[in-house]
Amino acid sequence: MNILLIGSGGREHALAYAIAKSPLCSRLFTAPGNPGTAEYGENRPDLALTDHEAVRRFCETAEIGLVVVGPEAPLVAGLVDDLQAAGIRAFGPTRAAAQLEGSKGFTKDLCAERGIPTAAFARFTERDAALAYLAQSGAPIVVKADGLAAGKGVVVAETLEQAESAVRSMLGEPGAEIVIEECLFGEEASFFALCDGTNAVPIGTAQDHKRVFDGDRGPNTGGMGAYSPATILTPALEREVMDTIIAPTLAGMRERGTPFTGILYAGLMLTADGPKLIEYNTRFGDPEAQVLMPRLASDLVPALLAACEGDVTGIALQFDAHRAALTVVMAAAGYPGAVMRGSTIRGIAEAGASNAVIVFQAGTRAENGRIVADGGRVLAVTAIGDSMMEAQARAYAAVSRIDWPEGFCRRDIGRRAVAREVA
Ligand code: ATP
Repeated sequence: MNILLIGSGGREHALAYAIAKSPLCSRLFTAPGNPGTAEYGENRPDLALTDHEAVRRFCETAEIGLVVVGPEAPLVAGLVDDLQAAGIRAFGPTRAAAQLEGSKGFTKDLCAERGIPTAAFARFTERDAALAYLAQSGAPIVVKADGLAAGKGVVVAETLEQAESAVRSMLGEPGAEIVIEECLFGEEASFFALCDGTNAVPIGTAQDHKRVFDGDRGPNTGGMGAYSPATILTPALEREVMDTIIAPTLAGMRERGTPFTGILYAGLMLTADGPKLIEYNTRFGDPEAQVLMPRLASDLVPALLAACEGDVTGIALQFDAHRAALTVVMAAAGYPGAVMRGSTIRGIAEAGASNAVIVFQAGTRAENGRIVADGGRVLAVTAIGDSMMEAQARAYAAVSRIDWPEGFCRRDIGRRAVAREVA
């Protein structure tokens, strides 16, 4: 079967790596793709992803049997709806189901309706009402813009003044909406479920590092590194997440007439009162896919097909290929602010020479036979190991082989997981 993968990040390089291994995959196309995905098939940077009719025509011409959508924007834009309406099998939620990621207010209302554990919250469109609520609630408190904000629409305010200024800036435009919620305390972890509209099966766990600098300091980013599994999520906690969070979400979506098919990625806070939902994403995480895919022992493609066909109950994905995986993101200097593009990266092949290392490419482009930086997060240097400590040591050894003076990375990815392992 020919497969079309949508996206161009490190996540898509990791998905391409997993999909191309499948005996079911004849040809893989990635649109637009990056130099990493090009190793597994053909990149199609010419395909305009916002032109759904053009994507449909391409699927027909290239005899695509499955479309896999990596990032959130095409989901929220309804690419899956339009392909499915044309009879093309597409993996991922419809536009209505992708609201679980696209609208924080929608998700919070669903949680309230279904008793899904999450932070207490209120929704606001009026500045004065929001400020009055803040005055009543006090700090710390969390202020979130509704809608996709690429991780930049959330302010965890330590003081009332910070919260008030967040409200003022987020409710500056008419039509804007915010969610104000209780500040939760605990360790964060990510849980992934493969969903067919009715049923879900777990598809791995991970933890990531969002802040740009060591010791979780500095501004939030798309993610500076991750590791899998999240051993803090014990089998008992995983069952609790499936029962109290994932299952009622699927039931709620089905009853609304917008069943959820695809990857439901629950961002959790493991509080003293049990796991609580911070947010949903409706696709694989980036950089979480870069640590989930290398550990996957099962074929990914039949699992994606089963979800599209509406029955994942027979799917039991094995993640025991390797006990631990850890990825270190190398970003361009200046990230998450403005970055310089075009600097040359050397040593990718040397870094990935070991069987235990894969250098996933994200913001890169090929130029005259060289790989150059072309974005904020540029590489995800991933290693596997029998322990997290081994994966971490291998990943940083690989990082040291990359010759890219204009890049930087955190030096403490996996610190807590390794400490837990040694304890
Ligand atoms: P991203 O997509 O990058 O995860 P986002 O804009 O969708 O970000 P959230 O995931 O909702 O936003 O929040 C971002 C971060 O803010 C969380 O990972 C968490 O660290 C913190 N956060 C969010 N909500 C709360 C809360 N209620 N209590 C404490 N911290 C929170």
